[in-house]
Amino acid sequence: MFWDEKIETMPRDDLETLQIARLQTTVSRAANAPFYKQLFAGAGFEPAAIKSLDDIRRIPFTTKDDLRTSWPYGLLAAAKDELVRMHSSSGTTGRSTVIFHTAADIDAWTDTLTRSMYMAGMRKADVFQNMMTYGLFTGGLGFHYGAERLGALTIPVGAGNSKRQIQLMRDFETTAVHIIPSYALHLTGVFDEMGLDPRRDTRLRIAFLGAEPHSEKTRHRIEEFYGLKAFNSYGLSEMNGPGVGFECQCQAGLHVWEDNFLMEIIDPDTLEPVDDGVEGELVMTTLKRAGMPILRYRTKDLTRIIAQPCACGRTHRRIERITGRTDDMLIIKGVNIFPIQIEKKLMETDGVGTDFQIILERKGYNDHMIVRVEVAREFFSGDLKQLELLRKKITEELRSDILITPRVDLVEPNTLPKTEGKAVRVIDNRTD
Ligand code: ADP
Ligand code: ZN
Repeated sequence: MFWDEKIETMPRDDLETLQIARLQTTVSRAANAPFYKQLFAGAGFEPAAIKSLDDIRRIPFTTKDDLRTSWPYGLLAAAKDELVRMHSSSGTTGRSTVIFHTAADIDAWTDTLTRSMYMAGMRKADVFQNMMTYGLFTGGLGFHYGAERLGALTIPVGAGNSKRQIQLMRDFETTAVHIIPSYALHLTGVFDEMGLDPRRDTRLRIAFLGAEPHSEKTRHRIEEFYGLKAFNSYGLSEMNGPGVGFECQCQAGLHVWEDNFLMEIIDPDTLEPVDDGVEGELVMTTLKRAGMPILRYRTKDLTRIIAQPCACGRTHRRIERITGRTDDMLIIKGVNIFPIQIEKKLMETDGVGTDFQIILERKGYNDHMIVRVEVAREFFSGDLKQLELLRKKITEELRSDILITPRVDLVEPNTLPKTEGKAVRVIDNRTD
């Protein structure tokens, strides 16, 4: 039951030989990019030094900041006219990163998704409804191409508009969906409101859950409510997007497509590799991307390698579901947000004091962000019209930057709790 049996079940030795060959090509190609040219020179590294997989450790890491400071073309390793598509990481306008693909890159990426969806049990007779945002975000087009290659009827509905989603599911007998887990939970309420039961009133049988961390318990809830099997899909735009790690029908960890990616797990403090089975930060290298190879990318995601062979017969190793991050990035409704973005916007606004707090709450199945901001005392005297105008202005400024609408509470100076040392900016009250 494989889409590409030869690749998916390739003996480890052969797979590693393939990885070394692809790593050598990737590193030589990367040397065309201004960023890597400089990085290699600074480290006294020559692409010819790659003789084994371990030699990758001679190359310094690449971080999200490197991608940002190299905006827009610093990591481009191909001529611009070779490119056919660009994507960007979800959310964020000011701090986003951009990734470029050649036609061959799109083809390889598509292949990882077709393989993944097939592995989870999707077939050409399935009707696939892609409920992820299209556009620059990778979850839309990435899955879309994969599903079409598999041969399934694909409904590119995109995100939002819950009633219409449910209507489409019913009218076209959708059997498989790609959905953000928090949205899948939210939608349970809409089914209830409409007096519908997905087990009885839809033909759903598979859900691909991606773009944000979620627990085993959330998976079970979704499987129970909808009467389907849910599969964890992990990816990040720097490594194409979805299609990096994906669960098979054993649902016991995510297979990483090692013919496309080289993975390392490092201790985030010492930056040294950890043993298989030990949790650490996932570091990834593209092995098949020509337009914009990325070497040793620090994902900031925490996981561990499951080295034991999988019962499904695939030889590509698995990782545990992501357990957290090493930085302060928040993921709300699938959108990545850094507290620093909020701070920057607030500090640009006249009248805003020095302190603010971000509070995350879960009401029912919905996540809410409350931003409490200290503003100058004069806003609280007399007529409160100015205060309301300021509140609206801050809300709109934040919305345009982080793409979700927070509830903004304005408070008088010195009302937010003060801490000694590092300010506690984020209070995450979301629990499962
Ligand atoms: P995406 O399009 O998936 O949001 P981004 O590049 O914008 O891609 O964000 C990638 C980040 O999203 C990952 O580094 C990880 O922190 C998070 N993420 C994506 N998929 C999952 C998943 N299945 N489980 C946990 N975290 C995930
Ligand atoms: Zn498996």
